[in-house]
Amino acid sequence: MVNNRLEITTICPDAENSLFTIESSEIEAQRAAAVAAASAADQHRTLPRIKILGTGGTIASKGASSSQTAGYHVDLTIQELLESIPDISAVCEIEYEQLCNVDSKDINEEILFKIYRAVSDSLQSFDGIVITHGTDTMAETAFFIESTIDFGELPVVFVGSMRPSTSVSADGPMNLYQAICIASDSKSRGRGVLVSLNDQISSGYYITKTNANSLESFNVRQGYLGNFFNNEVHYYYPPSKPLGCHKFKLRLEDSSPAPKLPTVCIVYAHQAMDSELIDIVAERCEGMVVAALGAGTLPEIVNTRCLAQDIPMVFSKRAMDGMVPNANLPKSADKSKCNIIASGYLNPEKSRILLQLCLAKKYTMEETRHVFCGVYGG
Ligand code: ASP
Repeated sequence: MVNNRLEITTICPDAENSLFTIESSEIEAQRAAAVAAASAADQHRTLPRIKILGTGGTIASKGASSSQTAGYHVDLTIQELLESIPDISAVCEIEYEQLCNVDSKDINEEILFKIYRAVSDSLQSFDGIVITHGTDTMAETAFFIESTIDFGELPVVFVGSMRPSTSVSADGPMNLYQAICIASDSKSRGRGVLVSLNDQISSGYYITKTNANSLESFNVRQGYLGNFFNNEVHYYYPPSKPLGCHKFKLRLEDSSPAPKLPTVCIVYAHQAMDSELIDIVAERCEGMVVAALGAGTLPEIVNTRCLAQDIPMVFSKRAMDGMVPNANLPKSADKSKCNIIASGYLNPEKSRILLQLCLAKKYTMEETRHVFCGVYGG
């Protein structure tokens, strides 16, 4: 006697996905008919509305030949880019806007706030937002947007490419197509800012560019969330936002010029480092980030110079992965006056933005330390 219905229950806490049912072929046939009927009915449902914001980058670049993968220029509009991707009319309805068309090395505060405004303005009328962006500083813009906009469940997906549009096997069109599908997929809701590149879906809060040339460029352990393959969006975990992400509510006047964030400089440590550099840079800024050695160490003489500054100093790391714990910070004689904060898992450029936001909010040292505690530093 054939067992018609066998239920296997896992201990997965996700009730919807924890029940697996293996059925007889007759029941399977009935189910297939039901699925076909449901998908026919789905044709009539309204498609998600996706806003696409173009800012430039390699994805919008052209070279002089199909083998050129360096020295190319931004030369493609978001409209032209959208013309190069497979038909998405069955996936979503799109509206697009060209915010700027620059290499991401030229993303300054004015453009950053333009992106901020465009995302904020799209929250009410769209189901998802896609931002095309150069990969060099994409992680910084993604971190800023995650830290400053409360977009609730709405997916905000950053996308770029490593090869210009003119090259053989250009990765831009597929990356853009995937990003739009990801933004349209209900499984992407409630996951914060995402970065989609090279089939991978990552957390914009943590991910960073780790390879200057390869298609497999974005990395770091705490960043990967899922994968895109053959028109399917695969997440490894249920929706969750980055733990410890401190949201800063900005109040922006409509008028230009863009507001100016406090100046925070990054100093890169190395063997035989000149400790005077710390004093020279401190004169120019309101806060400093040091890309320290290993898990936050610096020569004693440099530590002494850092402790002597009257601005907040965040110790981050040169290493791409890993973290700087509070335990590795130099100790000051007066514990309550210590101006050094550990960056936790944040790299120097993300630490810079977080410190800028803390300074803009006029947080005290203790409040700033508390913010960095969220990412296991402080
Ligand atoms: N230089 C380019 C940019 O960041 C690199 C890229 O997009 O991959 O705009």
